[in-house]
Amino acid sequence: MNPKLELVFSDEKGKIYNFPGLRPAGMKAGRFFELDVKSMLKLPGSSELFLLPGRCPVGWNDSDKSVSLACDPYNSSQSPVFAVAAFIPPGYTLTHHAAYEEREAKTQLPLFAYGACAFYKGDFYVSAVQVDKGDRHDERFLHMEEVYRGVASYKKLFPKNRLVPHLANCATVNGCANAKNFFLGRMEAPVPISPVCNAQCQGCISLQPDGRDFPATQERIRFVPTAEEIAELVTCHFEREEDPIVSFGQGCEGEPTIQNDVIEKAIRLIRRETSKGLINVNTNASRPDALAKLFDAGLTNVRVSTNSVREPYYSLYYQPKGYSFKEVAASVDVAKKHGGFVSMNYLSMPGFTDSQDEFEAFCDFIEAHQVDMVQWRNLNYDPIRYFRDLKLEGKAQNLLGMDRVIVQVKERFPGLLSGYFNPKKSQMKNKTLT
Ligand code: SF4
Repeated sequence: MNPKLELVFSDEKGKIYNFPGLRPAGMKAGRFFELDVKSMLKLPGSSELFLLPGRCPVGWNDSDKSVSLACDPYNSSQSPVFAVAAFIPPGYTLTHHAAYEEREAKTQLPLFAYGACAFYKGDFYVSAVQVDKGDRHDERFLHMEEVYRGVASYKKLFPKNRLVPHLANCATVNGCANAKNFFLGRMEAPVPISPVCNAQCQGCISLQPDGRDFPATQERIRFVPTAEEIAELVTCHFEREEDPIVSFGQGCEGEPTIQNDVIEKAIRLIRRETSKGLINVNTNASRPDALAKLFDAGLTNVRVSTNSVREPYYSLYYQPKGYSFKEVAASVDVAKKHGGFVSMNYLSMPGFTDSQDEFEAFCDFIEAHQVDMVQWRNLNYDPIRYFRDLKLEGKAQNLLGMDRVIVQVKERFPGLLSGYFNPKKSQMKNKTLT
């Protein structure tokens, strides 16, 4: 008999078991799907397995009926068991969520992405596709001893620069890969700049209102650095890395373009010193006029984040204050008009992103606004609550599959880069990520 996928579950202590009595299900929009090992990956290195409190795993029985597993099948004491999900590293995009039923789970899951996982021939598998082979966030290249050495050198070199201790905390306490890269003089350097935002995303990782079930996963920067503080760090980074990039707009801040005067001045200072490197802003793209000024100063790239290109769903998730999706589209046009390179940071949620309607709308958007790249990033948010927030509970239909969507977007737009990380200059020039 051919080996089959086996369901995995966790006991109360977090010990994970495989259970051949059920085939694991995947979940999209609260509905259950059959998983196929051919469209799954061996769990990538640096993945983590999470126990989902108050949630029972769901699998298929031999009659192809979906059933939830409430009690430990290996223990007669009827002790409860919990669903298990895989949290995968950057570069991989989920195609299904872990399948579960909420038992006494009245609280929302914290801000992570919960991939469907299974056990097969002695290994864990996850329902995901690899979209970027870049090693930018690969922990094997982010040696902490060297990071600490970098922190010490930067503190000596720039003792008054407030960004240094901030980024040191990001690198050594919060585990931010971009901050680690900065101290290693490698690839993309992060510059957080804004303590405020003009949106209130349901899954904002840097600020959650009081009363939510979970905290933000990062603390927002509490000061606005000066243009001089920014410029001295960026020019130093540009000297150290051969093909460097610097990005305003990080997980530990609000919306960077609100501080456009400071960014503009910093870009001019940087460009007075060097013409090397890309200068990028990761943004909610709410302020096209501010963006135009940044391009005039020397900005080269912009990465626009969105969960959807359809106004109602954008607004329900982003809760924008004083702007709408029209400004987002206008910002892309501004960037293109200025010769900028535009990436869409497409916050993907299986069951929504792979619906026929969203897929068609996204393709129309790429075509109309001449987008250069799509970054297929997992939206870190409770996969059932998302559909409630978007008023789509029980309505998901015509799902194409995330893997097909990614392939079909590539086929429709052969010149479009498709990946995960902001591209380097050489990748933009060669129009390939390899
Ligand atoms: S745009 Fe960014 S900083 Fe602002 S609320 Fe959304 S996730 Fe948070």
